[in-house]
Amino acid sequence: MEQTKSNISEEQILRRAGIRITAVRLLILRTINREFSGTFNLADLEESLPTVDKSTLFRTLNLMTENHILDAIDDGSGSQKYCLAHFDDNQLKIKHVHFTCHICHQTFCLTDILLPEVTLPEGFQVEDAEYVAKGICPDCAKKHA
Ligand SMILES: [Zn+2]
Ligand SMILES: [Zn+2]
Repeated sequence: MEQTKSNISEEQILRRAGIRITAVRLLILRTINREFSGTFNLADLEESLPTVDKSTLFRTLNLMTENHILDAIDDGSGSQKYCLAHFDDNQLKIKHVHFTCHICHQTFCLTDILLPEVTLPEGFQVEDAEYVAKGICPDCAKKHA
């Protein structure tokens, strides 16, 4: 899944999403794409980009989430997490499973595990879905073995 990230430039990602390209948006997306391998929150982004003010970071995260560049994940920690969305060859968003470790509190992107299809009763129209598995990550399992 790493190649979905690198074979398209940040400019292309913004253009494809119909977001006007500005220097600060490009900087933010570049940081997300290059510095975070899994999920991150606003505080992580602030730490990586101390020169950009917090409200700009917050607004840009919202904009990118609304335009499906980012996935927003509620892992139960109370702090909104984000990760870069992945797309298939037809530019359809591929939703992947996340895993939250209750020891190190990291939320991992399991980009190879796609969201299972769930058939709902008639009358229910799905607009969004997420799957967050919770437990102990491999590193913590090793340390606590
Ligand atoms: Zn862990
Ligand atoms: Zn993810």
